[in-house]
Amino acid sequence: MTQLTPQPGIMDIALYQGGAAHVKGVSNVVKLSSNENPFGPSPRAVQAMQEAAANMHRYPSSDHGALRQAIGEVHGLEPEQIICGAGSDEIIAFLCQAYAGPGDEVLYTEHGFAMYRISALAAGATPVEVKERERVTDVDALLAGCTARTRLVFIANPNNPTGTMISEAEVARLADGLPDGALLVLDGAYAEYVEGFDAGAALIRSRDNVFMTRTFSKIYGLGGARIGWGYGPKEIINVLNRVRGPFNVSSTALAGAEASVRDTDYVDHCRAENAKWRAWLANALAELGVPSDVSSTNFILARFTSRAEAEACDLYLQAQGLIVRGVAGYNLPTALRITIGDEDSCRRVAAAVKAFKEGQA
Ligand SMILES: *Cc1c(COP(=O)(O)O)cnc(C)c1O
Repeated sequence: MTQLTPQPGIMDIALYQGGAAHVKGVSNVVKLSSNENPFGPSPRAVQAMQEAAANMHRYPSSDHGALRQAIGEVHGLEPEQIICGAGSDEIIAFLCQAYAGPGDEVLYTEHGFAMYRISALAAGATPVEVKERERVTDVDALLAGCTARTRLVFIANPNNPTGTMISEAEVARLADGLPDGALLVLDGAYAEYVEGFDAGAALIRSRDNVFMTRTFSKIYGLGGARIGWGYGPKEIINVLNRVRGPFNVSSTALAGAEASVRDTDYVDHCRAENAKWRAWLANALAELGVPSDVSSTNFILARFTSRAEAEACDLYLQAQGLIVRGVAGYNLPTALRITIGDEDSCRRVAAAVKAFKEGQA
């Protein structure tokens, strides 16, 4: 046996738990545990990926020029300030790898996305968790948590799994209060669910310490293709491109993403359906005594009276073929995160929670 020892921090990483997809012995299952688009990808994206499949013997583009151009046109951004990755997870990993190492601190919030901690540890850096205020990002707490060793500050806006968001003025106050040598990373995985929201692009234009990550996994329905992107100061893009593998994104993913970003009618349709059924479901659950914060995303965080009740409801929903997400691992043991599905799924969830509550009484 050789004495192979992983780098410090690696064994502190808890394996990421994906959303479940099956229930033993139950058919007609709907997966509402991973914030996927219930309508799937744009039909144009599917067609583009089918066409790209015929050329799989060719290596993909290594500069992702066509996709960066399309993103630039649709979002009004400079293509040379965009980088593409195998999901935004990969962009998060690049940021940690490039800017945070042993002795450096990476901040994120109490109920922040799991990948920030995982990527910080993988880079050998020290993850630092900062309190939120009633499930909302707390700018004062983040600023108070910064030290001379802070390199990266991650916030998702809107956040997962809380669904809440903070204003542009608050994000600007955070950016402007950071110590020298620290970068604010705005994770915009759910930005497209907020109509007219630029996810922080204007703040990036006027500052050199703000970066944003975006994904095709949520409203674009391409989670299986693994494609995301980042936008920020040219100097940072130039650094990240040095740690990026030349062929990190497949040609099918590139083709699907380009067709998706250009199909703005489809995105508008998905956003409108989500908003409609999110309001309906939040209201239906609130009437049953299961409140949630106002959500800016494609899920709601349903709050129960206790951990025991949340766990019992989770099991009851599973038995009905409804897979939602327990979020005890995000310090939210009394809540369940429920992805907004199509009309039928939302009605099934509301009916099942009603039956669960009645069964308890
Ligand atoms: C889903 C999600 C992502 C997306 O990850 P990908 O690697 O792009 O699939 C990023 N951040 C948050 C907060 C998310 O919820």
